[in-house]
Amino acid sequence: MRVRYEPRAQLGRREELRLQFRVSRCEPTFSQCQPVTCPGMQRLDFTLEATAPSSRARAARFRTRHNEVLTPTFMPVGTHAAVRAQRREDLLESGVQVLLANTYHLLLRPGVEIFEKFGGIHGFMNWPRSVITDSGGFQIFSLPGRRTMCEDYAEFKSYTDQTLVRLSPERSIATQKSIGADIMMVLDHCVPSTVEHSVARDAMELTHRWAQRSLDARGDSPQALFGIVQGARFMDLRVESARAITQLPFDGYAIGGLAVGESAAEREDCTATVCELLPADKPRYLMGVGTTRDLLEAVHRGVDMFDCILPTALAKQGVAFTSIGRRDLRRAIYRDMEGPIDPACECHTCKTYSIAYLLHLHRVGEAQGWQLLGAHNIHFYLQLMRAMRRHILEGTWLEFYHVQRDVLDARDSYGKPPRHVTNAQRRTAKMKRGRYEIVVRDDVGRIRDCVSGETMHSVNEPAEEARSLYVEQSRLSERLRASEAPSPAPLVVWDVGLGAAANAMAAIAAAQELPAAGRSLLLVSFENDLDSLELALDHIRWFEHLRHPGPRALLRGDSWTSKDRLIEWRLMRGDFAACKTRAPAPDVVFFDPFSFKTDGGLWTLNAFRELAALWVDQAVELFTYTYSTSARAAMLAARFYVAKGRATGPKAETTIGLTRRAAAAAHGHELLGSEWLSKWRRSDAPMPLGADPGTDWRAAIEGHPQFDGLSGAGRSAAD
Ligand SMILES: [Zn+2]
Repeated sequence: MRVRYEPRAQLGRREELRLQFRVSRCEPTFSQCQPVTCPGMQRLDFTLEATAPSSRARAARFRTRHNEVLTPTFMPVGTHAAVRAQRREDLLESGVQVLLANTYHLLLRPGVEIFEKFGGIHGFMNWPRSVITDSGGFQIFSLPGRRTMCEDYAEFKSYTDQTLVRLSPERSIATQKSIGADIMMVLDHCVPSTVEHSVARDAMELTHRWAQRSLDARGDSPQALFGIVQGARFMDLRVESARAITQLPFDGYAIGGLAVGESAAEREDCTATVCELLPADKPRYLMGVGTTRDLLEAVHRGVDMFDCILPTALAKQGVAFTSIGRRDLRRAIYRDMEGPIDPACECHTCKTYSIAYLLHLHRVGEAQGWQLLGAHNIHFYLQLMRAMRRHILEGTWLEFYHVQRDVLDARDSYGKPPRHVTNAQRRTAKMKRGRYEIVVRDDVGRIRDCVSGETMHSVNEPAEEARSLYVEQSRLSERLRASEAPSPAPLVVWDVGLGAAANAMAAIAAAQELPAAGRSLLLVSFENDLDSLELALDHIRWFEHLRHPGPRALLRGDSWTSKDRLIEWRLMRGDFAACKTRAPAPDVVFFDPFSFKTDGGLWTLNAFRELAALWVDQAVELFTYTYSTSARAAMLAARFYVAKGRATGPKAETTIGLTRRAAAAAHGHELLGSEWLSKWRRSDAPMPLGADPGTDWRAAIEGHPQFDGLSGAGRSAAD
């Protein structure tokens, strides 16, 4: 059982005191490549800008010798003074603020004399922004090969020429000074997470003594230096280490020795405990962590800075981090998939290449595949950090956190049944909530109303049906495209019968796949029983389309807005009949409630008359899955123009209702003609639902202007 950490809602007294203390800012001119220092200035002019309510997540900024760094931030790993397979131009464009380089590797190759000749790593790799160097401690103890330890130094065999190399705190700092790091790290003694308490204590105490020596060795260098909290998996040691290290005047504090085999829960608890003990007025850095979700959890617990090799390491394996979870390009299901790897991403890779092409590059071992995917992953990480920062500053962190933790880093199960479910279980798998249950067929989940026995999207794959019947027929993408704009008003789409949000998510996906910003979309979903969506979200593996921040945000706060503000999704809770007058008038309606057996009130003559009255001056196109004579008769009697919708599954037709103004516009729908009229006259059930036999509905249909002057076949409304 996992205990969740709930951060303190308020700053402690100690933090308040520290926040009152601000060093007055010295204002040197900062150029890109010429480090400037100002005598007497604090090395990192750290400013805490905001702490999220009910969380320890914080936004801050500090200034290194090269640039201002906004936190939370992610620092890509450039072990050998290069991020693997990445060009510096792409890193700069992705907004990388700090690059991490490795003292251990750079000491062995190319060696400090090269850095001294080139004026440090910035000149050597022509990098204009900040560099942080880790001290080499982690590599000495984690890489294979012999090493010996004593109070003064660690000694190990160089992997380049097998000579013995000695690294002391003093030599580590001297090397980092030569490299020219903006931020240096103290040499620490790392131990595996599995060691005994006594071994962990000895390593921690040595780390503390080395921390003091590192500070002494730094002297009056303008380069910043961070201390490192150690203590392996032992909370008492972590607390002791945090207290000891914060006694020393470092410019920032790191949590080291994690991400080495402990569970995520252990790591998060440790992070939370240590962050509580770190001063609020200094940056906090969690070393070597982690996945996108790990970063989210750590920011929630008060961490500002991260580094990790995962974005490029997983890219090499063909794995992408996206706004809908992981995508694994080793899977054949993507072999012919069009569209970007992440519709919500604006990186060069996503703007330029399809998933199918990236999969191909990966399969043939083309280096460019690694490069393109790595560029996307780094961009995604940095974009995520900027989103975190924005939500902290805007006071919306908690909502963002709760939504993202379910989405980020979700395993790629696109089109895949979960492994632990047997075929027999899959056939009978039923999960319930309220009056609904999930029925799984062909590895796709559908929502069934247990009371009526009716299943949503029963005849076709839900996502496919949503795209075909609603998104494509309504020409949603064309209407939203930039060329159709400029229209100051958003395109308003009503989604009647939210259900498991298949139609709404298909509309959002279509809008997010558009290559350029055009007209904005306002999507209004009507639902009186949200158990169906809750149920689907609880069993998201059967409802792949819900892997998106929108549905949970909708349930939590009745709305979701895309980060570019071009898509707004609103929820109207309650009966459609009552809610409809409160929603902005639609251009398009996805009319997809349960059928008259379950939702009879929505299909009556009166219901359609109310809609016709509401939209009397509007051009509205209504799309629905039914083609029943009674439903079409109700629409016609209510003075809608009625056209044939496209087929779905075994249904040869569906139905489109048009207001008078919509029918007058060119749209290419084929109106029902005299053939339908003859069929209706012969029908056993010609009467609209809820109509009175003695009233004028029959005359309204017979005299409908759409049948004026018809001889044989139907005609197009655009004629
Ligand atoms: Zn991308």
